[in-house]
Amino acid sequence: ELTVKDIQAWLNDYTKLIEENKDELSLLDTPIGDGDHGNNMARGVGAYQEAFAKQLPATISDTFKTLSMAMISKVGGASGPLYGTAFMNMTKTTKGMETIDSIESLTEIVKQGLAGIQMRGKAEPGDKTMVDVWSAVVTALENNQLNEEKIMAAKEATKDLVAKKGRASYLGERAIGHIDPGAASSALLFACLLNYL
Ligand code: ADP
Ligand code: MG
Ligand code: MG
Repeated sequence: ELTVKDIQAWLNDYTKLIEENKDELSLLDTPIGDGDHGNNMARGVGAYQEAFAKQLPATISDTFKTLSMAMISKVGGASGPLYGTAFMNMTKTTKGMETIDSIESLTEIVKQGLAGIQMRGKAEPGDKTMVDVWSAVVTALENNQLNEEKIMAAKEATKDLVAKKGRASYLGERAIGHIDPGAASSALLFACLLNYL
């Protein structure tokens, strides 16, 4: 069972992980993008912390909404609206929920988050984007087998792919050999969820 406190602790851990990995995420974005992914994400989670401090979200849904609004309004770059839409869908899916009381419920929430990313960005699994990690996480949750290994494997698997969406898609074959930065930041998101399951 995940309470509102657990969700807020999770997203607080995520904030810290993004800050700690900011330079590394931007470095991943350098050969196959414009080198700003860590900075973009750090701006997003920073805005989330600011909004959170101003007004403590009372529910799980409000917590996701606070993060969604921060990502949409403060992150210039593709990742802002993509994460923003994911968390907006998760806001809707958790409306009225006191706790997330089963793995099935959590699976549905993450699945709706993924649906938001795909609605906005039109990427499919295998296109070397954050969708690769989100979809692997949904599959693992469906089998009640989410673990660190699966999350990291999904991130690592983006290395061998040609990108079909985003800036990395301009590079064609030259994107091969580089991990997708959005897949890496998404892996951090789910890695720190594991502590609460
Ligand atoms: P920008 O590319 O605008 O500088 P970021 O560097 O913050 O934005 O984010 C890049 C990441 O966004 C990519 O690594 C990829 O995971 C993700 N991304 C880009 N376009 C799409 C898309 N259409 N669908 C899903 N994810 C995408
Ligand atoms: Mg970038
Ligand atoms: Mg950019």
